[in-house]
Amino acid sequence: MITRILSLLVVVLAVGCSQGRQAVKTVPKSSNLPVMVAKTPSPTALAKRKELRDWWFKAAEKAASSTGDSEANRLVAFLRLNAILAEPFGDQAKTLEASKSEEWFYFVPLIEGDELSGEFWAKLLASPNVGASFNPGTGLLIVRSDPISQDWAGIILLHEVRHVRDLITEEYNWQDNMTFCRKERDVHEFENRLIAKLGGERYQKFVDAEVQNMVGASRDAKLELGESMLTGTEYPQELDKIFGVAKSDFERAVRATHVDIDVNFRLVDRYWKGNKEEQKAVMLFKLYKSTGILPSPP
Ligand SMILES: [Zn+2]
Repeated sequence: MITRILSLLVVVLAVGCSQGRQAVKTVPKSSNLPVMVAKTPSPTALAKRKELRDWWFKAAEKAASSTGDSEANRLVAFLRLNAILAEPFGDQAKTLEASKSEEWFYFVPLIEGDELSGEFWAKLLASPNVGASFNPGTGLLIVRSDPISQDWAGIILLHEVRHVRDLITEEYNWQDNMTFCRKERDVHEFENRLIAKLGGERYQKFVDAEVQNMVGASRDAKLELGESMLTGTEYPQELDKIFGVAKSDFERAVRATHVDIDVNFRLVDRYWKGNKEEQKAVMLFKLYKSTGILPSPP
């Protein structure tokens, strides 16, 4: 199971070569691009990148509209206004359009051939896919093209957009481990709400049963209920009945990991005697620490 968690989070958190937002803000129209330009964007590459971006945007919009969640709708508006199409540039990224706002950020849809742009991109593309990821060190929101259902693409993109918005508007210290985990908790709580709205009654029944399984598993492991994150080892087939058949192993890993977090948070809500919100952040801290994926200073 740890592998499952790792596959989801490792790229999100550990790609870390922190270049900061000042990295490259080159608008491609400039004829003064340095000689280090890895490749000139071809019209086809640009079209593919735009197509992928539009697909992810639509997925986020659909998740927001089908849940009717006001926070999700605000995040879609934030995404539309501030995401600036960008492409790999050496080991960084460069924008492909002018920014329209103060709070703009790099939105990088990865396409075939991007592994040739630089070591950073080659490593990223050789890592397990996470669909959408945001790294606060580089400031890049990256989306990939492996198969995933539209609903789940929407959910995971909105998760990442919430990170971007919070970081830009609050400028919190993401390098402080507990601050990082509390933020992650907030974003997962938001995401759990979306999953529950999309999954409806059937999902509610499923998670209730999963919580009961966790109660048994906690007792077997002699853990206090909600003390540490417990996870399943196999993809719960019931999720395919609730959300439609997952389109890839990567999507199954994404679904299972996110649902596990939801189930563990519910366990804390129901049984933890102390500060429940803090306990959820502590749970995530333990998980990230054991898997070595807490962010470290650049
Ligand atoms: Zn996150």
